[in-house]
Amino acid sequence: MLPELPPATLRLAIDRDALAANWRALDRLSGQASAGAAVKADAYGLGVAVAAPVLREAGCRDFFVAHWQEVPALLEHVPPAAVAVLHGPLTAADAAFAKTCGVRPVINSLLQAQRWIEAGGGPCDLMIDTGINRIGLSLGDLPDPVIAQLEIDVLHSHLASADEDSAQNAAQQSRWNAARGVLQHKRASLANSAGITLGPDYHGNLTRPGLALYGGVPCAALAGEISQVVAPEAALLQVRNIAAGESVGYNATFVAPRAMRIGVISLGYADGYLRAWSGKGMLRSMGRSVSVIGRVSMDMTVVDLTATPDLREGDWLRVDYSLPEASSATGLSQYELLTLLGRRFAR
Ligand SMILES: *Cc1c(COP(=O)(O)O)cnc(C)c1O
Repeated sequence: MLPELPPATLRLAIDRDALAANWRALDRLSGQASAGAAVKADAYGLGVAVAAPVLREAGCRDFFVAHWQEVPALLEHVPPAAVAVLHGPLTAADAAFAKTCGVRPVINSLLQAQRWIEAGGGPCDLMIDTGINRIGLSLGDLPDPVIAQLEIDVLHSHLASADEDSAQNAAQQSRWNAARGVLQHKRASLANSAGITLGPDYHGNLTRPGLALYGGVPCAALAGEISQVVAPEAALLQVRNIAAGESVGYNATFVAPRAMRIGVISLGYADGYLRAWSGKGMLRSMGRSVSVIGRVSMDMTVVDLTATPDLREGDWLRVDYSLPEASSATGLSQYELLTLLGRRFAR
């Protein structure tokens, strides 16, 4: 038996109140429709064990994952009838798994429809492709007799350009609307986070925000509505003084212009703090800014402590991680900035 692990030197600060408030804002902006939650990819990197209870407590009743392998962790926190699996049943094993657990598959093709019927059928969702050309049934597939055998709870489609003012949005909305007229279903759903802002024609009965729940701001219309949820925090592993002219880190990309006090934090690209932050990341300690110097390495990043001489080994720094700003600073998408966050963070 190993002794209890010592505390981590890396943690993700997760503002649960902000997460709940973001869901409520998106639910309100969804008008007559209810907001669900995309919690795929471990709730976009936050950790489904943290996010799902907060969302359920806030009032969320519909949860979406992509893979069957994501189901067990989610079922620890929400009932099976609240779960739909976006990738659908690719194999008979997937369909049997869905039947046994009581979660809904999202049917994406005639083959998947056939699989589901062969497994015994029952409530399912249906994804139709209205122009993104990813997964989903084509409109031409809808008259197939196997589709008439499905017991469709949610009729979904997914927008390709919801975060842009694009003519594609209205084109997709009208195809989704046409499908609503020809298929039996209980509820209809089209909008992701950005899609919610396109107005009531895009709401149906259920919306599927992901990014904005977790503090992402995909379009200007959400700017005043969404609060930051996640910030990485890392402990100082070591503090040292260097002389003018000494270099820092791999390939010596930073050379001290003067004598400096520097610190090494327990955060690196293996944790999702990519090399894009080299020489430009900012952190904070009690309101004061601390900047990243030199290259981010796998497990460590070096910071300039000249203006914060009181900081010691073991003290914590919080990374500036407002998603819209972090995205402009690095060129990484807000989605990538969230889902990159690694497994070594205490959550
Ligand atoms: C991921 C996903 C969403 C959530 O999208 P966001 O842009 O993160 O709000 C909604 N619907 C489907 C089908 C998805 O795959």
